[in-house]
Amino acid sequence: MTSSISADPLVGRMRPFGTTIFTEMSALAARTGSVNLGQGFPDTDGPPEMLDAAAEALRSGANQYPPLPGIPALRQAIATHEQRFWGLTHDPDTEVVVTAGATEAVAAAILGLCEAGDEVVCFEPYYDSYAASIALAGAVRRVVTLRPGPDGRYEFDEGELRAAFGPRTRLMLLNSPHNPTGKVFTPDELTLIARLCQEHDVYAVTDEVYEHLVFSDASTPHVPLATLPGMNERTLRISSAGKTFSCTGWKVGWATGPGPLVSSVLRVKQFLTFVNAGPLQPAVAVALNLPDSYFTGFRDTLQSRRDRLVAGLADAGFGLLPSEGTYFVTADIRPLGGTDGVDFCRTLPDRCGVVAVPTQVFYDHQDRGRHLIRFAFCKREDVIDEAAQRLRTLA
Ligand SMILES: *Cc1c(COP(=O)(O)O)cnc(C)c1O
Repeated sequence: MTSSISADPLVGRMRPFGTTIFTEMSALAARTGSVNLGQGFPDTDGPPEMLDAAAEALRSGANQYPPLPGIPALRQAIATHEQRFWGLTHDPDTEVVVTAGATEAVAAAILGLCEAGDEVVCFEPYYDSYAASIALAGAVRRVVTLRPGPDGRYEFDEGELRAAFGPRTRLMLLNSPHNPTGKVFTPDELTLIARLCQEHDVYAVTDEVYEHLVFSDASTPHVPLATLPGMNERTLRISSAGKTFSCTGWKVGWATGPGPLVSSVLRVKQFLTFVNAGPLQPAVAVALNLPDSYFTGFRDTLQSRRDRLVAGLADAGFGLLPSEGTYFVTADIRPLGGTDGVDFCRTLPDRCGVVAVPTQVFYDHQDRGRHLIRFAFCKREDVIDEAAQRLRTLA
């Protein structure tokens, strides 16, 4: 009898997803003693009120399973935050669910809403978990490319977006402010997206983990898609504490929206993680209720770090695309003689002791992002300055 134990037991639908470039680049950073501007996580802690609340919760017995949808205080804080910043009204009992980061919310939404063969429209470059979640659901991604326009801002072609919608479309997955480009979708672009979602009668799932990171010189403020006419009833809005409160390791995220959409997420999530981060949930509630000064102060800090890094990149000779939000800025390597971002990023640590990430790994059409690389600026000022100084030696 032949054995069915094969050399590679992994299911076919996960085969295209190898170990990520982040693993390779972080190992390279460690080996070469480079400044790692590859992965997007902060190197300082979030607000002390939040950390104190977590320590207090940990010591006062909040260490067992929280309720499936999240503790009431956090669901209430999420609903209050939605109202305070975006004017969105959600019932904390039926229209809010706490998840294991935005990542679980995205996965549970796609697994809970898509039948095999259903299509998901999204933009490339895209956050890497999207393609894997779509594949796990047996769904199909229909990808529309964001390209730098005449003023450097990323745009998409209206015809291309229209053509991506069809009879099998189940949902539009939209990330704004957008990783890795730093693009903030404009009201006009959102209006078009909203119109297509309504014409084709599909859901929208929005990843807004950078909702508080739109810089003061951006061409548009952040507008949640759910706030457009006719969209609140068909949009599941996802966010997370990780980016806003510099606690990416906590993995506390959430989804808000109409009861039936939130129920679909709950149904799946109860068998993925059930619950997570018990003692961290009350702490995130404290953070969400911080005064406006926290949120604007955080944004201003990140903006000044962006400016410090961008100055170094410009002096080094990179082409620069405007970053209007998020933790990231995209650089064009062609003025420095580069053609392939993967090759460029593999040699950058030896050339100047800095690690970046090639943007092409976030595309289906890799050729469209081959000349672009991404730098994270969510790092301490001295780290940014050291990186900027090292990068200047490329010039
Ligand atoms: C970081 C990030 C996430 C993941 O958020 P978690 O809360 O850590 O799961 C999701 N989407 C985008 C666009 C991100 O940059």
